[in-house]
Amino acid sequence: MSYRVVNPYNGELIKEFPAATDEEVEQALTDANNFYQQAKEQPIEQRAEQLSALADEFTKRADYYANFLTANMGKLISEALGEVKKTVAFARYYAENGAAALVDQDYTAMAGRKAHLEFSSIGAVVAVEPWNFPYTQVMRVFAPNFILGNPVILKHASIVPECAQAFDDACKAAGLPTGAFKNIFATYDQVNQMIGDPRVQGVALTGSEKAGELIAAEAGHNLKKSTMELGGTDVCIVLNDADLKKAVAGAVSGRLRNAGQACTSAKRYLVQSGIYDEFLTAIEKEFAKYQPGDPLNEKTTLAPLSSKGAQQNLQKQIKAVLDGGANVLWGDPTAVEGPGAFFKPLIISGMTYDNPMYDHELFGPVAQLYKVDDEKGIVELANHSNYGLGGAIYSENLDKARKLASKIETGQIAVNQPLSSLPELPFGGIKKSGYGRELSNLGIREFANIKTVLG
Ligand code: NAP
Repeated sequence: MSYRVVNPYNGELIKEFPAATDEEVEQALTDANNFYQQAKEQPIEQRAEQLSALADEFTKRADYYANFLTANMGKLISEALGEVKKTVAFARYYAENGAAALVDQDYTAMAGRKAHLEFSSIGAVVAVEPWNFPYTQVMRVFAPNFILGNPVILKHASIVPECAQAFDDACKAAGLPTGAFKNIFATYDQVNQMIGDPRVQGVALTGSEKAGELIAAEAGHNLKKSTMELGGTDVCIVLNDADLKKAVAGAVSGRLRNAGQACTSAKRYLVQSGIYDEFLTAIEKEFAKYQPGDPLNEKTTLAPLSSKGAQQNLQKQIKAVLDGGANVLWGDPTAVEGPGAFFKPLIISGMTYDNPMYDHELFGPVAQLYKVDDEKGIVELANHSNYGLGGAIYSENLDKARKLASKIETGQIAVNQPLSSLPELPFGGIKKSGYGRELSNLGIREFANIKTVLG
């Protein structure tokens, strides 16, 4: 197994990292366990200060950290800087609010007997993370667990090893204690080995449905608590009474940011017939503005996909979509020549339930457009999915939009704005989008021992 950085813009091999030895894995587990034991004796405030120092480190050297994102997975430099900022926001949120979420909670048992809940650490958490947001995904798991006193061992995606190493280096630069965080260039076997180790008590995966099935099975086999943050086919619903400008802006950024490679991208546009033509014309105009270029150039609007493999996979998926009876409404599905992993924006329609690609996650700048008549049809289509991650609804009638939001089977949904994950709000999916919640006061309790004390 190799961890390699290949610049998706020009195909150049930047660096290779050897896979971890078994001795390194053992050392990481020993250090993690030592941190777990020590942290039990230390005040949370100390870790909150250390987490703030980590936020300061990312803030001070934002350009340095952002460059790894662009070089490893091709993110536009402006978006890379935005990701560093968000990484800082997640850390600051838990540094400032983590302790409050872990305060004992009083209960009254039968016959007026007093009881309370305590929230305490359980041991090391193995975090298996994807390449699409290489720092924020790690911070979402690390920050709450660090405050709680759980060490985190990271197995990052094999195409972003410099980002993984940079996160580890940032923890060292900020003076975090040994064992609190460790990046390991682990093989799949070593991940399984760690999941089975008694010093590990939790597994957090963010990734595809396939990885979710395998890692959840391994966690289940070892009776370890797990959270699964998986893929989605989120809807962007535009009702007849939507503010067209707002809806178009949200639909376009919701689909094309990060070159379309976000779990909560607006993958299916469900547009009511009264506004359909206007919406399509406006969307086409906006999509045409996205032009491939060097992601380090601040003027570039369309970044490459994360790798040549991702580009080839999406091309294969689009061929299957079209062979299955759908059609291209706007754009050109032919490959972009050259070493860059580019994929031009595309709008497809005519996707039917019997298309073999229906309900497959298309991870790139491809929007599916559906014309819908009434609310019943919208709910039926939106919920006709094995996934249930996020979504967005555009309507100037807030009451109607919120009632509709309640009927969509997802873990979160936004009204009149594209969905984004905020540190103070719970985030997670249902169905094959996974289980468990990250962020907020709920995220910090996922790997906590919620202990009832009676008396
Ligand atoms: P992926 O191929 O599933 O990989 C995710 C991580 O799992 C990588 O570190 C990968 O390592 C590792 N992995 C895969 N199979 C494994 C196994 N059998 N044992 C141990 N580790 C294994 O997903 P991706 O392509 O990186 O990321 C894109 C997916 O993530 C999309 O489906 C997206 O929707 C989802 N995602 C979800 C959320 C959310 O919060 N719900 C957020 C972001 C992304 P290697 O790289 O070494 O294979």
